[in-house]
Amino acid sequence: MDKDIFDKMHEECGIFGIFGHPEAANLTYLGLYALQHRGQEASGIVTYDGKDFYQEKEIGLVADIFSEDRLNRLKGHAAIGHNRYSTTGGNKLENVQPIMVNYALGTLSMVHNGNLINATFLRDELEAYGAIFQSSMDSEVIIHLIAHSRKKELTERIIESLSRVRGAYSLIFLSEQGMIGVRDPHGVRPLSLGRLKDGGHVLSSETCTFDLIDAKFVRDIEPGEVVLINDKGVTSSSPFLPENPAHCVFEYVYFSRPDSDVYGRNVYQIRKRMGKELAKEGDIKADIVIPVPDSGVPAALGYSEASGLPYDTGLIRNHYVGRTFIEPQQAIRHFGVKIKLNAISGLLEGKRVVVVDDSLVRGTTSRKIVKMIRAAGAKEVHVRISSPPIVSPCFYGIDTPTRQELVASSHSVEEIRKYITADTLTYLSNEGMFRAVYQSETCENQHFCTACFSEEYPIPFTGEEIKQLGLFEIDPPSAQ
Ligand code: AMP
Repeated sequence: MDKDIFDKMHEECGIFGIFGHPEAANLTYLGLYALQHRGQEASGIVTYDGKDFYQEKEIGLVADIFSEDRLNRLKGHAAIGHNRYSTTGGNKLENVQPIMVNYALGTLSMVHNGNLINATFLRDELEAYGAIFQSSMDSEVIIHLIAHSRKKELTERIIESLSRVRGAYSLIFLSEQGMIGVRDPHGVRPLSLGRLKDGGHVLSSETCTFDLIDAKFVRDIEPGEVVLINDKGVTSSSPFLPENPAHCVFEYVYFSRPDSDVYGRNVYQIRKRMGKELAKEGDIKADIVIPVPDSGVPAALGYSEASGLPYDTGLIRNHYVGRTFIEPQQAIRHFGVKIKLNAISGLLEGKRVVVVDDSLVRGTTSRKIVKMIRAAGAKEVHVRISSPPIVSPCFYGIDTPTRQELVASSHSVEEIRKYITADTLTYLSNEGMFRAVYQSETCENQHFCTACFSEEYPIPFTGEEIKQLGLFEIDPPSAQ
């Protein structure tokens, strides 16, 4: 089968669910609003009022999609919602979640954050038995497996289906039986449980949503745990064989909001410590430390604290930049980055500048930023990246480009330095990253997936999947 059948192999998403609150849709809207950073392409909400299901979904940003009318149509005490981020093609309404279907046991709706690695294989098999897919999402495979299952209870069907699926999944289902939350046995993507003051339970990709809706954090859903939330309360089970935890460390580096606690640790403080470790690993004589806003801010603050160099703003970000803008016909140098960022010349002139960003992917942004800082009069530009070099694509739900586009997969740090035209370039070491995460000199990684930095994929691929995912385009090793 064509490997592009799932238009979107790498999906960044945010999921949210409420059970037991009269304003379920409104709170889900707020939850999705707080999770907007996890996906800006499309959004959807499904609600249930004990009798009927209602759905509203659309391409666009949360605040633009959900008008008062639309929210009023979403009746009920239970709701689930999804923010989708798509890269290539596939910007179609049928690919917007929640997925909602009618099947043998009633109505079922589902939202998914993560990425399945054996979805193509399962889809081929299901289609051979006559399944008709409505979308090109890998997530739809789970729904078909559930519909095909002969088990009598929905939870049993979900467990049976997920035991056939491999990859990363944090899921929330909504059905007549209640709301069900699941995290894959490695716990790759986050999922937290909260409780509302006036009753009702919340499931969310990130805890920053709880602050907005006045919910109290209860606990994280455990890797491999299935929770059923209904009028009787929360029932938990752990039906899958235990696996080594493999939480995505990139959630700390870039993806999650700094005000969230992810896998039990606050993201902002980890990012700040990453900056401190970066400074400790290689100090340089300079006059000023500036962040690439907003992603580099906490690390730049940490760098400044540890190095003693003064922190300043340096680059100003326009927060209202949408996805597309009309480029003027006459070429303007570095237009693409200028529309988003601008340097403060008066501040940078004649200075030796340390500029801190959280990660370097293709290197194209850094290259433009270095040139912009120089154009503002800086004497020297030293780039500091508060995570290790990204050498491998993610197949578990973060959008990263192909291996060839990841500059660090085929270039040394010195080659990248030359490409971005910096005076010096350093990255945080793997050990430094884990010293920051664990807040201890014990830097041994015991809980995290570092595939993008290490090429060590914690969920093994079959030979066929390696081919389908184009996993090792450069140097194919033997299948695990
Ligand atoms: P690049 O020009 O490709 O090196 O882009 C680096 C910038 O992209 C950094 O400022 C990062 O904060 C940001 N970044 C890192 N990972 C991602 C991602 N998965 N999606 C969008 N932006 C990202």
